[in-house]
Amino acid sequence: MIQNKKPTKDISKDDIDNKLFKVCNKKTKRLVKINNKITFGNGDLNIIAGPNGVESKKLIHKTASFLNRLGVKILRGHVFKPLTFPYRSSQYSESGVKGLEWLKEVRSEYDMTIVSEITELQYLDKMLNTIDILQIGTRNMQNFELVREVARSKKPIILKRHFGSSLRDLLGVAEHILYEGNYKLILCERGISAPHTHRETSRYLLDIQAIPALRELTNFPIISDPSHASFWAPWVPSLAYASVAAGVDGLIIETHPNPSKSKVDPLQPLNFNTFKKVFKNIKSLKRLTKKF
Ligand code: PEP
Ligand code: MN
Repeated sequence: MIQNKKPTKDISKDDIDNKLFKVCNKKTKRLVKINNKITFGNGDLNIIAGPNGVESKKLIHKTASFLNRLGVKILRGHVFKPLTFPYRSSQYSESGVKGLEWLKEVRSEYDMTIVSEITELQYLDKMLNTIDILQIGTRNMQNFELVREVARSKKPIILKRHFGSSLRDLLGVAEHILYEGNYKLILCERGISAPHTHRETSRYLLDIQAIPALRELTNFPIISDPSHASFWAPWVPSLAYASVAAGVDGLIIETHPNPSKSKVDPLQPLNFNTFKKVFKNIKSLKRLTKKF
């Protein structure tokens, strides 16, 4: 786990000359096929949506059913979760193995592909049965032992950039994953620390520039998470549209049937009505950006 906040060193010509990026480079086209319905990197825009945490069976069924009706194929929800502070309120506890069971149910009932975060190696075996894409969160980006072992499982991975990391550090971790022989890698920009985030509640700054910058360095799919970047639902639509215009292969957007009741980060999920509108707009925008 890394705690640094200052951006770390950028990629230099020496890094390239020293062949630090043997696999994570522009030499080969990189498609990440998850299953028969979903591939990242083929020009599709894959939307990953759902609540922050899998809080209850009811919540996850309600959300999966809504998303499925809308045509969203990938559901997110965490059953294990790093919290910034150690004080878990009485209303919040990880749903853990129980949550995995609920995810398994909705996976088959609504034919959803599931994304969930792995926080510790002890959960890996349990998650492998149910989870289609394992997320390595910002706080664990440089937890190399976790990263390497998850890579060895050969499961598709979403690797989130730490909020204080340079692209050099992010791609260094990517190189570790590829070195283990796992090429099912999706890179995620989710906001960086900056002195000004415009509003007390907006925790991070979505680094839109990272999207073309990563494109210049690697052919692996790139997605963006405007929900965690802004921490503020009213800004999520604009940041989602900006990410699409910048050419992402997918988006992570938090949605919850009753955002103010969300047990963690209640300011950031979109309610179902707003999500529906944003999803429609994203699809129109994607059609337009095909001409770019
Ligand atoms: C999340 O996706 O719920 C999450 C905690 O993300 P991040 O690691 O970007 O904060
Ligand atoms: Mn979260």
